[in-house]
Amino acid sequence: MSNFREFFMQKLLILLRPTDLDMPAKDFISTYASYMESIGIVGKGPTGHVIYPSRTAPVDAEYTQLFEDLVGLTSALDIHTVASMDFYTDAWFAKDPKYHTVSPRGEPMPHQICPNREEFWQYGAEIVGELAAYPIDEILLFGAGFIRDHFCFCERCRNDFAPLVDQEPNRLTYEYIIENPDHHAKWHEWRSGKVSEGLKYLQASARDADEKVGRENPLSISVEVLLDPETGFSEGGKGQYGYDYSSILEITGNVMINMYPWSPILPSKGSSEYDELIESLYYTSEFQRRGGTASLFRWGVTTIDQLRELKAIGKDANIDRIVTTFSYPSDYSTRRESAIGNY
Ligand SMILES: [Zn+2]
Repeated sequence: MSNFREFFMQKLLILLRPTDLDMPAKDFISTYASYMESIGIVGKGPTGHVIYPSRTAPVDAEYTQLFEDLVGLTSALDIHTVASMDFYTDAWFAKDPKYHTVSPRGEPMPHQICPNREEFWQYGAEIVGELAAYPIDEILLFGAGFIRDHFCFCERCRNDFAPLVDQEPNRLTYEYIIENPDHHAKWHEWRSGKVSEGLKYLQASARDADEKVGRENPLSISVEVLLDPETGFSEGGKGQYGYDYSSILEITGNVMINMYPWSPILPSKGSSEYDELIESLYYTSEFQRRGGTASLFRWGVTTIDQLRELKAIGKDANIDRIVTTFSYPSDYSTRRESAIGNY
């Protein structure tokens, strides 16, 4: 990226991958720190690997120095310092058949974890604890929900959910669930309950870590929620991904809306889709009213024009915090296919 300076001057939070920096962290900071209000660095990406020296997760050792230098330097300069963490989007852990999520036809999804796994919530809590030992202010939590409404049909989910709709676990199908609106509503409620429980583990871990390190301001966790027209904007996202926005408000208080993850084009002002989008963001005012934050996020923003487009939407939706990355996740096509393809 040659236009870092131009981006930083737009006062947004850029979440960097270590490969985005073409110089050592020290040089990067001394070149750009005066333009930076905040900076983000990937802590744990969708490969499941972390870039800090973890005791629990696999480590990309070549970047640990960069991570430590970067967060150390920026926090010393009072720059809002952020690390990201992919949660259920964890391709390393998902190789284990005991953890990955499963489609209605029984196909394993080796890139994503079933959110109905207390053991994995504990693992996530450990990662939060490890990240929180660094002088960071915030964690951006990615991949916090289900792949889509058709998930999860792993053995544990069937065993747990089938009795709630008077069915045998091995005879539970997606069709059985959706043909009865009561069953479908129970499915949504049960799944969002799991997602919220997982978040509670992470939030509790952040509070424990605050005490341990004597953090002045509590470490905040901003929870990514996907918002796409293909999956029914915010309201549709509740059912599809298992989000309960009021629970997120209660648990972490911070939400980060991933704008149009599956659709390349943002709607233009004046269109009915644009109005629908803005309306779909109304709920975020409650986060801000209660002292939390709402942010608009988008993958792969590489031009100032793309950034302006996002900022204009933010302005109409009363959300002034913008978070971006320069690139898409490495497993983007798999994720998109599993979220809106033919499963
Ligand atoms: Zn499951």
